[in-house]
Amino acid sequence: MNSETPSSKRPTQKLLAVKGMNDILPPDSTRWEWLEQQVRTLMGRYAYSNIRTPILEPTALFVRGLGEVTDIVEKEMYSFEDRLNGEQLTLRPENTAGVVRAVVEHSMLYDGGKRLYYMGPMFRHERPQRGRYRQFHQIGAEALGFGGPEVDAELIVMAHALWTQLGLQDIQLQINSLGQPPERLEHRAALIRYFEQHSDQLDEDSKRRLHANPLRILDTKNPQMQQLVNAAPKLTDFLGPQSQAHFDRVRALLDAAGVAYTLNPRLVRGMDYYNLTVFEFVTEHLGAQGTICGGGRYDYLVEQIGGKPAPAVGWAMGVERVLELLKLQDTSAMLAELDAYAIVPEADALVQVLPCLQALRAQGVRVQMHAGSAEGMGSMKSQFKRADASGARFALIFGPDELKHRQVTVKSLRDGAGTQVLKDLDAPDLAQHLQSQPTT
Ligand code: ATP
Ligand code: MG
Repeated sequence: MNSETPSSKRPTQKLLAVKGMNDILPPDSTRWEWLEQQVRTLMGRYAYSNIRTPILEPTALFVRGLGEVTDIVEKEMYSFEDRLNGEQLTLRPENTAGVVRAVVEHSMLYDGGKRLYYMGPMFRHERPQRGRYRQFHQIGAEALGFGGPEVDAELIVMAHALWTQLGLQDIQLQINSLGQPPERLEHRAALIRYFEQHSDQLDEDSKRRLHANPLRILDTKNPQMQQLVNAAPKLTDFLGPQSQAHFDRVRALLDAAGVAYTLNPRLVRGMDYYNLTVFEFVTEHLGAQGTICGGGRYDYLVEQIGGKPAPAVGWAMGVERVLELLKLQDTSAMLAELDAYAIVPEADALVQVLPCLQALRAQGVRVQMHAGSAEGMGSMKSQFKRADASGARFALIFGPDELKHRQVTVKSLRDGAGTQVLKDLDAPDLAQHLQSQPTT
């Protein structure tokens, strides 16, 4: 085979990203970084520590963890066999199972409960549309080893605090309780009876799931089935006193924290691992993909993944959806602007300019250096054009006359008049001047 060089005559075919997987480009990426920073600050305040687990996990982790009869496991996973050793692997469709695996693998609960958070890409083979992608990103929080209702409330309050911190409005919290396995078993029997009586109204998916996992039918997105689903037996009617008390306590703590919610007896979530408290934060501003965050308690997952039984609760939010909501408001404050653009008429001057720019950056100035072409630095005119396009507030002009006296001309690119001042390179207030707003 011939190796292809850029000069070979055959036109090279353009390679594109995989469908449903997006590049995140500037200035959008700046909004991403801003959001991530906001989350880190928040997590610190609630004493949650960062955890980073692999993107690739054994397929069995998700099949066992999420449940075989779920949308994700049945039709959304990117699974393949490692052709070198035959292992069955899956790109993580969510990260709760991975976190639980890591917690168990490293015996992290030996000295008490842990509060953890993560951020990163997830992969689901879904039909790409607004707010729904094949590679998307989640930020999630998990509290493991705590059985009481306090952490349920803490996690919900924390998510609510994030919306406030981000300035997001019109986000509704819906909560429900899924009870405990015996209660669900009773409810399940009632559900099967109910749906059997109305089997003519079930779609194909639901018919298949009727006996395997009837709870999943309640999570259907088929609008034709909403009426049927709405009248189905409610799980909350099957709760025993202990489950009821847990739910009541969560609600009382939310009330105390001033977090409003609505009860949604239809809320069941897409994974099998949940019990007791489940919740979602939804908005009407994002069309059909209105859920920005969802979570709940999963007291049996640790055991299911091979650990010593331990209770746990957590949530995950969709970063793309939250950012789309953020973009409906003014996001200019997230896009930190450039302070200065360094114009260097002659390449020889760079030996003097570079140390000066390094010193400014060390003092926190955001400065972009003009970079030339193979032919040289380019005309003053073309350099000024770049300076204007850069969005910088000031141009630093390192001309030969200025440098002869260890000086630089600082020109405002924002005040209309293009005010110029001459500054000593070693002037103690140069950095300060560049970080100031131009007077108009
Ligand atoms: P949906 O009902 O919208 O399919 P889900 O119940 O499958 O969501 P979870 O598994 O609970 O979603 O994931 C938590 C959050 O991650 C969702 O509320 C959503 O904001 C986001 N999310 C889930 N799937 C996608 C996707 N394919 N693209 C973008 N964001 C997603
Ligand atoms: Mg889904």
